[in-house]
Amino acid sequence: MSITIQSSSFRQFFTQKLLAAAMVSLLTGFIAVAPAYAQEKPMSTTNQQAALPRVLLLATGGTIAGSADNRGSGAYNSGAIGAQQLVSSVAGLGDLASLSAEQIASIGSQDMSDDIWRKLASRIQKAFDQGEADAVVITHGTDTMEETAFFLSLVLKTDKPVVLVGSMRPATALGADGPANIYEAVQVAVDKESKGRGVMVVMNDQIDSARGVTKTHSTSVQTMQSPNLGSEGYVDLGHVRFVKPAAQGQFLKLPEAPLPRVEIIYSHSNMDALQIEHAMADKAKGIVLAGMGDGNTSKAALAALEKAAAQGIVVVRSTRVSKGYVNRNVEVDDSKSGFIASMDLNPQKARVLTQLLIANGVTDPQKVQEAFLNGH
Ligand code: GLU
Repeated sequence: MSITIQSSSFRQFFTQKLLAAAMVSLLTGFIAVAPAYAQEKPMSTTNQQAALPRVLLLATGGTIAGSADNRGSGAYNSGAIGAQQLVSSVAGLGDLASLSAEQIASIGSQDMSDDIWRKLASRIQKAFDQGEADAVVITHGTDTMEETAFFLSLVLKTDKPVVLVGSMRPATALGADGPANIYEAVQVAVDKESKGRGVMVVMNDQIDSARGVTKTHSTSVQTMQSPNLGSEGYVDLGHVRFVKPAAQGQFLKLPEAPLPRVEIIYSHSNMDALQIEHAMADKAKGIVLAGMGDGNTSKAALAALEKAAAQGIVVVRSTRVSKGYVNRNVEVDDSKSGFIASMDLNPQKARVLTQLLIANGVTDPQKVQEAFLNGH
């Protein structure tokens, strides 16, 4: 029997860490590739389920529903495993909640769109308004999970918990993290302390707020972190422990898709005004600067941004740095230029808030700035 070793970093990781375990499996004849969700566990009986909290699971795809054709492979198809299979095959899930599952999309979250956001938001609001569910869990790719979580946190009107969950390894990988993450997401969703906390992300034993969370590592299972705000809590050997009080969010009406065009412009050395001029020519309604440091950029880019703000384009200064606030009027005179400082929000989240504000008719820089300060 021969073992082919591929040269991806994912492959190397598992080769180094887990070769011994894989060898034992292979030598004992376990050569079939069995996804982590394959062993379907029976759900609780109907009587038990009647007393359990009702959780609606909405599946959108991502690695958590990914499948590879061999266990050590770094290559896989996002969204190959359906919502029903995700729910019915995580051991013990049926003892935590009475679950129903629906497929909203089957995508890698790099393809997340305004249409799917609207679909998700409308379905969740309906489920809560019509008393169909006590909590919602959304399975989602990690690439844009923070944007979907933040979007939903702004447009949902509810005190019921909404938990986004993903994984970094596909279901077919050795050490797949999806099943444990789904279990913990449901644990958090049904915990009585979760009420009033809005939209959360649960991954790898950690609970993070929609506002605070961001993807910080391209491959590690400990990727979702809240660099500026810190985590909301932890799932500690079956115990849900919140370490922060619930924060007050803000509500913006769910607009029609597509959302207003808001561009993110990434700042770099030797920066000219071209990208900003293109955004203006493309009729962007807003520009978010992923600035250097405290939201800085070159003189040429700043002059172009001032022109954009003078034309009524909403200009927000955020930062390409992974941690820290962008404050008003430090090296840039925001008051004079009509700019908004993004505070704790990274460029991709600043974009979501700017889109929703513009769609709700809020474009005055002072009002936009107030919204950026609201809820952090
Ligand atoms: N790019 C895929 C996605 O975001 C996979 C990443 C993941 O789920 O962790 O859906």
